[in-house]
Amino acid sequence: MQEQFYRVIAIDGPAASGKSSVARELSRQLGFVYVNSGAIYRAITWYILQKRIDPEDGECITEVLKSAPITGALQDNELRVVIDGVDPADHLRDDCVNEKVAGVSQFPEVRQVVAEKLHKDAYSHNLIVEGRDIGSVVFPDTPYKFYVDASPQVRLQRRAAQGWRDEIAQRDRADSSRPVSPLVIAKDACVIDTSLLTIDEVVSQIIARLKQLGLPIAS
Ligand code: C5P
Repeated sequence: MQEQFYRVIAIDGPAASGKSSVARELSRQLGFVYVNSGAIYRAITWYILQKRIDPEDGECITEVLKSAPITGALQDNELRVVIDGVDPADHLRDDCVNEKVAGVSQFPEVRQVVAEKLHKDAYSHNLIVEGRDIGSVVFPDTPYKFYVDASPQVRLQRRAAQGWRDEIAQRDRADSSRPVSPLVIAKDACVIDTSLLTIDEVVSQIIARLKQLGLPIAS
């Protein structure tokens, strides 16, 4: 018998659009497990840089990933990424990772590894997954798709307030223009502009939409 995925809520959007804050709060309210797929791409990037692998050498990266299992540790209802037995959480926002992650994410073999990991997670938990291609490519059959966006100015302000140096415009360009699984709005996604909304307001909109779609939620 074919295994079935649990329920998946997909939250896609560009960098600093508010995805993580919204996904975390939603996870708290609904009890679904939160997964940040960007953190998996960041963990892979950190790992290959640490191994002194050329981040532009897709073949070499693919080879290295074959012997570096990507697993997840469930902590406070969030699946944290572990690569080759190491939790790289403290390094996921390093400058070198910010700089190289979009390049590493463009390789189809890397994307395949991440998609397989996410599918495995969905066999055992109800998930809220944030990313770029979650509704369009990784879980195209889920009815629960959201695309959150914000104006470029607001996104820059949010990054500055977080104290992170991150060339988000450059990453957005790379993520939107790559040939494999680019950042797109899935055709059946609900689009929310978060520029002028609080996290609670965005979460309320998402919950209202999930109810409309028939997801059983205790109110
Ligand atoms: O979400 P975050 O900004 O941390 O993601 C870091 C990078 O990982 C993105 O800029 C993108 O290159 C890549 N990514 C991706 N697909 C996803 C999630 C992230 O390509 N589903």
